[in-house]
Formats: sequence, C-alpha cells, structure tokens
Amino acid sequence: PEDKTIILDSIRDIPDFPKPGIVFKDITTLLNNPRALSTLMNHLTERYLGYDLDYIAGIDARGFIFGSILADRLGVGFVPVRKKGKLPYTTVAEKYSLEYGFDEVEIHIDAFGENGCSLEGEKSKVLLIDDLIATGGTAKAAANLIDKVGAHCVEACFIMELGFLKGREGFSAPVYSVLEID
Ligand code: 5GP
Repeated sequence: PEDKTIILDSIRDIPDFPKPGIVFKDITTLLNNPRALSTLMNHLTERYLGYDLDYIAGIDARGFIFGSILADRLGVGFVPVRKKGKLPYTTVAEKYSLEYGFDEVEIHIDAFGENGCSLEGEKSKVLLIDDLIATGGTAKAAANLIDKVGAHCVEACFIMELGFLKGREGFSAPVYSVLEID
C-alpha cells in the first residue's frame, strides 16, 4: 500500500558497498526522513501492540535504532545483541559463518531477567529486530542467544528481507518483514 511505498522510496541503493558487486540498502535516508520514519514506526507499533511482549532485542547496529524506538512506543525494555567484545558484563556468545570465516554475537546473560525469566518465573517474551535479513545467519545466531539465556523469541522482525537469499528458511521463530525485495 501507499505507506509501504513511502518507506521503500526512502531507502537508497548503494552499488559496490562494502565490496564490488554488492548493492547495499542504505537506511540512513529513511532515518533522516521524518515522514518515512514515522510511517514505519507507526506500522510496527500497530502490529506489535497486539503482541504480548516483555522485551525487544535489537541487532548491532541498525537494529538498535528501530528496536529502541519501538521498545519505547510499546512500553517494554530494550536489549542490545552486540558484536563480540563490546558488552561489559557476563555474556553468552554465538558464532555464525560468513562467506569467508565467521563472526560472533553476544548478549548479557541476565538481559531478560535471571535465567531469561520474569520474577514470576515465566520465560520472558522477546521480539528480535534488525534492519535487514539477507542469508539469515546473523539473526539466527541472535535468536539462538535469546534461547540460550532462557528467554523465548516470539518473532523476528525486519524492515527489509532479501527474499532470494531465503534467510527465513529454517528460522526457529516466525519471521515478519515490512518490505520484501527480490
Ligand atoms: P545476514 O546475516 O542475514 O546475511 O545479513 C544481515 C546483517 O547484515 C544485518 O545485521 C544487516 O544489518 C546487515 N546487512 C547486510 N546487507 C545489508 C544491506 O544491504 N543493507 C543494510 N542496511 N544492512 C545489511
């Protein structure tokens, strides 16, 4: 619909970034466009107000931006999933493979409460968010971290999905994307 066109039109394609042959989806032009940003955040708020959530976990670094705004709008806490070596307290880590080599994400062990549970002993309900899902490696590692610390990943949400890379296949939680790009 019209809303999605406003969001889509605000995202810019940068050819050959960060490497030759890759077309990078640049969301800085979405962030600096107040109409596009609030259209997006209204859409996400409307969807997730209907969910029973305790936390939003955002992936380093663009997931922090959308995740923080949404957490505040929904009145839930925000938890950063960071690249290795950035978090100061005790962490749990998960490796994932890249085209060449591997990368690693981390989360604080008590980010969703002790053993990932509320004070009543129920598993915390977490929405995972990032700007874009490509192969799905990063987000699947993040979802595994939520599981490892004892919480429950209710859904994984992305602003953009590169459908042809099939990143949603084999995901342990439902996957929602605002825009699918083929
Ligand atoms: P994946 O692990 O699914 O292959 O890659 C997704 C991760 O890489 C996300 O954290 C995302 O922010 C980043 N990423 C990969 N390609 C792009 C892109 O074209 N644009 C943006 N904004 N992020 C990308």
